Amino acid sequence: MSEKKRCIGILTSGGDAPGMNAAIRAVTRTAIYNGFSVKGIYRGYKGLIDNDIVDFKTQNVSNIIQMGGTILKTARCKEFTTPEGRKIAYENMKKHGIDAIVAIGGDGTLTGARVFATEFNFPIIGIPGTIDNDLYGTDRTIGYDTALNTIMECVDKIRDTATSHERLFFIEVMGRDAGFLALNGAIAAGAEAAIIPEISTEVDQLEELINNGFRKSKNSSIVLVAESPHTGGAIHLAERVKAEFPKYDVRVSILGHLQRGGSPTAEDRILASRMGEAAISALLDDQRNVMIGVRNNEIVYVPFSKAIKYDKPINRDLLNTLKTLSI
Ligand code: ATP
Repeated sequence: MSEKKRCIGILTSGGDAPGMNAAIRAVTRTAIYNGFSVKGIYRGYKGLIDNDIVDFKTQNVSNIIQMGGTILKTARCKEFTTPEGRKIAYENMKKHGIDAIVAIGGDGTLTGARVFATEFNFPIIGIPGTIDNDLYGTDRTIGYDTALNTIMECVDKIRDTATSHERLFFIEVMGRDAGFLALNGAIAAGAEAAIIPEISTEVDQLEELINNGFRKSKNSSIVLVAESPHTGGAIHLAERVKAEFPKYDVRVSILGHLQRGGSPTAEDRILASRMGEAAISALLDDQRNVMIGVRNNEIVYVPFSKAIKYDKPINRDLLNTLKTLSI
């Protein structure tokens, strides 16, 4: 990064994810360590438009690594999707002397970053922060591991009652377009199956399960369902089973927003710390408009165009693992 670019703005946007605070801390401290000044931008792109921007020192990020959510708050901002909104955002950014931005968020956040950086020709570095793990070009996104562990703990608890009452449980987890949480959550918690958007569009997964008599050797069953229009969601699937197979004692549990909360796991804290540091290294390397990713445990730069454009595939071998282990 050339000499004149010395002030870095940092924001979190879209859905919050555990570990975002660890990333904010890492970006802030690495920037200050390298002689830059830092501005915290509140509520994502909304804060840029509303001029909700403050100086960030190392103390602003003390004692936050263990906290879920984001101290910078987050918001979804419609105005930023318009050229007029982005012009106001850029003017405010300039008023504060910000010459580069680190944006932490999901697909939408990176899409906004790409448009903004191209329009006004300045560097933005993205950090993937979303529990869904659905960004192409990185093996992991910040928040995914914590959410996965939360799901596993919840399913473990539900299993106690499912077993005692000999019930069939459909447990709905997040993952509108991606089945990472449902599939890996199912494996981690020893569930019978995962109904995920990637497969639901190809075959009727519920029909397959019904044809197999759910878990033949057990009286209780747990099926994880990704909340998605493609799967129909847990309530819809349970209704189908109740109507067609009254012998099953079916229950639904929707985990909802508790999946987003909680103190980040060590894995998410370390990932966020590495990615935050890497975002500043990227700026020092004169990189622009790239997302920081981790592939095979190495930091990589993924152009926004790729991270946004491509879908990240699930590992289909894991479906077989789940099937084999659920006999
Ligand atoms: P999550 O994956 O948790 O939903 P996200 O980053 O995908 O997170 P979005 O609400 O989709 O969350 O996007 C965050 C914000 O990014 C939007 O509120 C909007 O301000 C901005 N944004 C999204 N798409 C665009 C776009 N095409 N142009 C400009 N800004 C955009």
